[in-house]
Amino acid sequence: MSKKVLVTGGAGFIGTNLCGRLLSQGHRVICIDNLYTSKLQNIKHLLSNAYFTFFKEDITTFEKDIVIDQIYNLACPASPKQYQKDPIFTMKTNIYGIQNMLALARKTNARILQASTSEIYGNPLVHPQIEEYWGNVNCIGIRSCYDEGKRAAETLCMDYHRRYHTDIRIVRIFNTYGPHMGLDDGRVVSNFIVKALNNEPLEVYGDGTQTRSFCYVDDLLDSLIKMMAQGASVGPLNLGNDDEYTILEIAQKIISLTKSKSKIIYKPLPENDPARRKPNLNRTKEILAWNPQIQLEDGLIKTIDYFKKQLLLLNNVVMEERL
Ligand code: NAD
Ligand code: UDP
Repeated sequence: MSKKVLVTGGAGFIGTNLCGRLLSQGHRVICIDNLYTSKLQNIKHLLSNAYFTFFKEDITTFEKDIVIDQIYNLACPASPKQYQKDPIFTMKTNIYGIQNMLALARKTNARILQASTSEIYGNPLVHPQIEEYWGNVNCIGIRSCYDEGKRAAETLCMDYHRRYHTDIRIVRIFNTYGPHMGLDDGRVVSNFIVKALNNEPLEVYGDGTQTRSFCYVDDLLDSLIKMMAQGASVGPLNLGNDDEYTILEIAQKIISLTKSKSKIIYKPLPENDPARRKPNLNRTKEILAWNPQIQLEDGLIKTIDYFKKQLLLLNNVVMEERL
């Protein structure tokens, strides 16, 4: 049945993909985004769809009287480069933003999904990370505006659920990549692909032995939508892919897949950069009857293809401006 779905942060990387998927399933989509880390260009292909409405608004102050069935709360800068740019804005978005969306969910009796993150585990001492793990987070570091903001947002969701029976869903998303990431987003996959396509050096922070587990965006969307469709609130679930790679392996793979002449160079490891990260997906696989399908290499090939087209478009714009 067609639903009215609000997607906050709908012009960002995951949001653009999610809005497209929901529209293709026949839902009406309202997208709120203040374009803090994204560009309107990202959702240009959706704007002519009669089922799609876009409000350029901040979620902390959004107060239009709308009636919806579901809210996906994705609004928040997600790349360390972006969320550290204005840490107070990041913290406010996480806390006042979810508070405002929870109040809206309560008022309209909507189900609300909070996009939480693997970062709530901090630099984890338990590996792979299970949902019961409370984490190892520095509350005064440069990543804290994001990590602690997301932890407080989970708390608010749980308290709205306990106090008002708000129908909440919490998903802890692990590193996700794919088309519609910004060219200058700053995260590792987009950074490495753009550098490799331009035959520039790939900058590995630290010695490259730190690990991450990368999920292709289409797999993530399947799990997000399944989580939203669950009959009852089930507590936080890890979402992602449990294949773990070192950052050096990712750099080498991308150089090889792009047939690039790029070299690898080493830069200092940022403060509080987690050493290892991999989700334990046992609970998620059982509850959602879902498994990530897309292998890293296949996902990277699709993403490289997307970035090639984006760089071509960018070069054409620069050429036209010069003429
Ligand atoms: P993104 O930065 O590409 O998109 C976030 C979007 O939110 C942007 O369009 C931005 O303009 C918008 N936004 C930020 N603050 C806002 C505000 N106050 N009001 C309105 N709009 C605002 O990030 P993404 O990768 O698409 O991440 C989406 C969500 O998923 C985020 O909440 C992020 O924390 C979470 N998440 C993502 C990943 C990942 O690997 N991509 C991992 C864990 C969690
Ligand atoms: N990283 C890197 N080079 C880059 C960008 C990131 O070596 O150009 C490293 C970063 O230090 C981290 C990992 O890659 O160890 C993943 O970084 P990202 O910003 O994508 O996400 P994080 O998991 O840290 O939030």
